[in-house]
Amino acid sequence: MHTQLAVLGGGPGGYAAAFLAADEGMEVTLVELEDKLGGTCLLRGCIPSKALLHVARVIAEAEELRGDWGIEFGQPQIDREKLLERKNRVITELSGGLAQLAKKRKVRVITARGVFENSTTLRLEGDHDSIPEGGKLTFDHCILATGSVPAMPPAFNIGSDRVLDSTGALNLPSISPETKLLVIGGGYIGLELGSVYAQLGAQVSVVELLEGLLMGADRDLVRPLHRRLEKLFDKRIFLNTKVGSLTDQGDGVQVVFEGPNKFGTEKYDYVLVSVGRRPNTRNLGLENTQVEVDDRGFVVCDKKQRTGDPHIFAIGDIAGDPMLAHKATHEGRIAAEVILGRPAEFDKRAIPAVVFTDPEIAWAGYTEDEARKAGVTVEVVAYPWAASGRARALGRVEGLTKWLVDPDTSRVIGCGMVGPGAGELISEAVLAIEMGCEVRDITETIHPHPTLSETVMNAAEVYFGTATEIYKPKS
Ligand code: FAD
Repeated sequence: MHTQLAVLGGGPGGYAAAFLAADEGMEVTLVELEDKLGGTCLLRGCIPSKALLHVARVIAEAEELRGDWGIEFGQPQIDREKLLERKNRVITELSGGLAQLAKKRKVRVITARGVFENSTTLRLEGDHDSIPEGGKLTFDHCILATGSVPAMPPAFNIGSDRVLDSTGALNLPSISPETKLLVIGGGYIGLELGSVYAQLGAQVSVVELLEGLLMGADRDLVRPLHRRLEKLFDKRIFLNTKVGSLTDQGDGVQVVFEGPNKFGTEKYDYVLVSVGRRPNTRNLGLENTQVEVDDRGFVVCDKKQRTGDPHIFAIGDIAGDPMLAHKATHEGRIAAEVILGRPAEFDKRAIPAVVFTDPEIAWAGYTEDEARKAGVTVEVVAYPWAASGRARALGRVEGLTKWLVDPDTSRVIGCGMVGPGAGELISEAVLAIEMGCEVRDITETIHPHPTLSETVMNAAEVYFGTATEIYKPKS
């Protein structure tokens, strides 16, 4: 079987590329290992984690009302089977939708493991009916979009079903108030899933090798989250601490800690290993092509998503950091456009990042740390949510919105936020940075009252020392 464009991997990078190419008239074949489209993001990542985080958030909000607001609810009763069923239904509906969209666009979907035999041929392994006779697919172009898998260091890979990766954690073992979960790694996946388990009633601890949680984010944004997590996790966040070894003892996992904040051993019911993800570039037959892989396992490609092989493009998690679904989608669309002969390249000023904890943290463009490392001078202006009427009405005044402004051009080149809903609010900042807005453009845009989105405008007003609700003249 021959196809004009083969897409290997049906995640948010792969299916976006396949659908755009088909919309623009190409004949496309999408090869996906699993019998569902959606990839990590839909099947075991972004979407199921957010479905569970929604439940966690509702429980937390009910608890908040219990305090000062004078509203009492009973303890939540959790029906694990029903919760999982509901989460899985979200996945099935969305994945079914993708299959329909592929069909309508006449994208041929083959369920198989694709392995490169050479620069223009994929061997299709498996026994699904969709595999053509001969099990080979030749192509003019291929977009490689095989994503990433959880990293599992050998010391933690002890073959125990009490040691979970993010995929296992999303299938929620039974949780009771006695359940003790240790999250290894203070990155976004560990903190999101740890928050879910804690809100569902488990005793959660987090151990992190570095000196802080979420080290990619600015510290002023992490601080309010850290404070809230200290409460949620009952002061069990162990920084600067290494996990030496794990041993399955049948009724739990014995963990050896080596650090100033936690030393010695402790037993946990479950351990979630969330120490990062590795690109899925092994066992693809890339050695039979001219595609190059760097020492971290990422495919080397340029801004047009071209690899060292003229027939093969690479996008998404295998094409480098940040490993995020929206970056994969955009790269997928760029690759399709380049193959269509358009002058496209991935040239973005801002790729937003969101941590969907409570409070949420979001940033786009430069962080303060990145600006410092890159030698870029920035003026930082921040607006505390304590001054926002809406934040007060919600009882959530710990938030912060800040802009990083280029003092020479007055352009906004970075934005950071922490607070409930920050993940939704950041899109305005992404647009502003991408469009090269000056800070005055933000102050002169009317924002609806009373909303948390006003803090985006108010933080820009701080630049001029004229924010209505705070008195902070520009020095
Ligand atoms: P993937 O989604 O990984 O898809 C790759 C596909 O390729 C898979 O379906 C795989 O089966 C298939 N494949 C692999 N090898 C072969 C082969 N040889 N032949 C055929 N098919 C193959 N990102 C966000 O932006 N926001 C979030 O909130 C977020 N939350 C996350 C939460 C969790 C718990 C996890 C694990 C990830 C999360 N991510 C999030 C990251 C996001 O899921 C990834 O960045 C995104 O899925 C990458 O897309 P991709 O298309 O590159 O690859």
